Amino acid sequence: MLATAFTAVALSAIAQNGGTDGLQETLRSITGKEIVGFANELTSSKYKGRLSGSQEYLQAAQWCAGEFKKWGVKPANQGSYFQYFPNEYSEVFSAGSLRYSPKPGEEISYKFPDDYYPGSNSDSGTVTGSMVYVGYGITAPELGYDDYKNVDVKGKIVLLEAGTPYKKNDSMMAGWTPYEYHRYKFRNAVKHGAAGMLYISKIANPNTVNLRHFIYAHINNAVAERIFADAGKDYNTVQKELSEMKSPSFALPVQQTVTITAQTKYFPDAKSCNVVGMIEGSDPVLKNEVIIVGGHLDGQGYLGEVFPSALDNASGVCDILGAAKALAQSPVKPKRSVLFILLGGEECGLYGSEYYAAHPLFPENKTVLMINLDMVGNGREFTIGNGKSYPELFSQFENANNQFIHRKMNATAWHKNYGRPRSDESNFEKAGIRTFSLWTPNAVFPVYYHDPRDKTNVLTPDIMEDAAKLLYLGILGVANDPKIKSGE
Ligand SMILES: [Zn+2]
Repeated sequence: MLATAFTAVALSAIAQNGGTDGLQETLRSITGKEIVGFANELTSSKYKGRLSGSQEYLQAAQWCAGEFKKWGVKPANQGSYFQYFPNEYSEVFSAGSLRYSPKPGEEISYKFPDDYYPGSNSDSGTVTGSMVYVGYGITAPELGYDDYKNVDVKGKIVLLEAGTPYKKNDSMMAGWTPYEYHRYKFRNAVKHGAAGMLYISKIANPNTVNLRHFIYAHINNAVAERIFADAGKDYNTVQKELSEMKSPSFALPVQQTVTITAQTKYFPDAKSCNVVGMIEGSDPVLKNEVIIVGGHLDGQGYLGEVFPSALDNASGVCDILGAAKALAQSPVKPKRSVLFILLGGEECGLYGSEYYAAHPLFPENKTVLMINLDMVGNGREFTIGNGKSYPELFSQFENANNQFIHRKMNATAWHKNYGRPRSDESNFEKAGIRTFSLWTPNAVFPVYYHDPRDKTNVLTPDIMEDAAKLLYLGILGVANDPKIKSGE
């Protein structure tokens, strides 16, 4: 009963300058069909997987800005819908090739996309050589750890793993975090004289670096297991040694060789952008405060095939577009301002959110909340990350869900992440802004993470419709509750 009474109060707070009829009508206008239509647009081949910095990404950004304009969502950056920042990138023209020779006279041609992906930031050309396994590829003297200490990789192709041997999220992890970055591993390999690399981590990954003459590809575990077996090694045994911090690096027999070919072009001076649209608050004082709703627009691009990046993260963007359209046309107006930010450069290393945090469009101390959506389109339930830590903000979303949406909804409490930041909200959090992240657990379809099968056919329109409704109502609730304090 207590919850019901509270709900009624909260809803009247949302609706006080419009009435619940208007709310209901706006809610009915939010449809999964329209939201998936947005996703079909953003995942279409003309945008080539929306690689941040590319012309195709910028065209996708233009399309989103055009939708904002149609609905009356205003440009938020001094008359512009765009906030530009530097974003180097590499264009990949084909899947290239990966050939492996266990011994002279024998050769296997591996297949894209099943066995390998080309490197998103590989240099262009061909490299051939014998191989050296270097574990995590880390040299950390202060931690007494060096994967290169007993091996000579000059002119060789290194085989290495993602991550670090230390796995716990505690203060010890902080010492390992600088070594978790892919860019670090690439530079360390080159510093030791490696000519190329096979990364035993088969995901499309623009969060790497283009280094001159350094040609690489991503392989799956089966390819690694085969190469290890031909060297008389068991890949799983080596994995176990690795987890025990034994640095089991070794040179493979020189007769085992690989040839990697890549066709790419590097654009060191490219620019990318965030798309920024806003709805100005209706209250003369509260309009100076803002609620930010964000999600990354960029995807993994083209690697010989388009990676449509539908769940990651056309889904989050399209939920936001659904909510933005509803809020722009809503008879119930937000008293506080709302900023929609479609972030660029997330897949390259959270560039767009980092840039916003350094160049905010509203002061941090007037920013009430940033809510981030990343991969919100395949699931059955809602979870609001950090919801437990900010109950006065969470209750707005909880009430909206209880009254209109009726999905199972959970909240988690904030916890410190000692590892590499993986999501855009971390840059807002670092700037002192309260953040939420919305997810949809309990997936209906397989999650094809950074995989060309991440298409709109693995999205669930009903959860996207409900996510947009939840955003619309939750944002209005936060925007119109006079008791909520900004971050001052
Ligand atoms: Zn993502």
